[in-house]
Amino acid sequence: VLARLVREKLESLLDESYGTLAALLERWRGRIRAAFPDVTARRGLYESIVRGRVTALLRSGRGAEAERELLVQVDAGQGQARAGSVVLVGAGPGDPGLLTLRALRALQEADVILHDRLVSEEILDLARRDAQRIPVGKEAGHHSVPQAAINELMAQHAQAGRRVVRMKGGDPFVFGRGGEELEYLRALGIAYEVVPGITAAAACGAYAGIPLTHRDHSQSLRLVTAHCDPSGEGLDWRALASGRQTLAFYMGVARLGTVAEKLTEHGRAASTPVAIVENGTRHDQRVTIARLADLAAIAELGGVRAPALLIVGEVAALGAQLHWFGATPRLWPADVDQPAAVDEAA
Ligand code: SAH
Repeated sequence: VLARLVREKLESLLDESYGTLAALLERWRGRIRAAFPDVTARRGLYESIVRGRVTALLRSGRGAEAERELLVQVDAGQGQARAGSVVLVGAGPGDPGLLTLRALRALQEADVILHDRLVSEEILDLARRDAQRIPVGKEAGHHSVPQAAINELMAQHAQAGRRVVRMKGGDPFVFGRGGEELEYLRALGIAYEVVPGITAAAACGAYAGIPLTHRDHSQSLRLVTAHCDPSGEGLDWRALASGRQTLAFYMGVARLGTVAEKLTEHGRAASTPVAIVENGTRHDQRVTIARLADLAAIAELGGVRAPALLIVGEVAALGAQLHWFGATPRLWPADVDQPAAVDEAA
């Protein structure tokens, strides 16, 4: 059993592109030996191939380009600087078990890791010991490194030949500014890859026992940010208020009251079930199940803390029965008089 465990661990680290890489190296081995008679220089070249752009291209399914890149590096000869690159990695919601294998590999190959504060310590501990870790942002209400500075940091390290991992909570393309960062890198001609992560809605739904769609209750799901516009004017509330759909509000802790007000104003029933998932997938996860009409009171008295996700829709009620992870959900207002709730309000 132990041997199998070790094998599983090894396999999780081995990349399926290694077979193709081995074949490629085998094919050009003679030429590499001729071009790099000195063994140290040859090792340097192999390092740069195995850890760098050639392998990245193979992983992206671009075999022909990988081979061309290999030959460019061989022909450029000794002293050729290793080209740096950036991998934009989704770290998921917090539980390290929700990282993808690809994310784990990127972490273990990185020279530099630029990470959001939402990325958990347990996940960062999976990185190479000697990798440089730089916290760069963002936590609502706290001071963070401006986007332009983050972009510059990424570029500087990559241009110095380092393998940079830019780690974000959840998925980098869901309210993560991943698109902006890629545009910046592309303009500078810096190579990049993207590793998706489990976004908060999927993770919080799963860990709270709340299916995001359900044949009986909800046929669509919208990921919405409550953050950008304090008045909520930028959102199409009429569309959001229509029934038989689930809404997942990101960055909404400060706007619970506004969300409830706007949705009911536009026709969603005040009795619609809602769930607030704080610290989803983490050991201190807390789930509150209530009605749309209760949100303002919860905001005021419930001691809701970021990161928290608001789920609106009939499916939210299912969490009261289907929950399986962490503490039992508190049912609002039934639990409101319990000492814990009162303490946090105070
Ligand atoms: N790219 C991220 C979202 C970044 S915006 C993703 O795909 O998940 C940050 C918001 O995500 C937070 O304000 C919160 O609404 C939500 N969030 C992230 N992690 C969370 C967690 N562990 N539990 C609850 N909500 C979370």
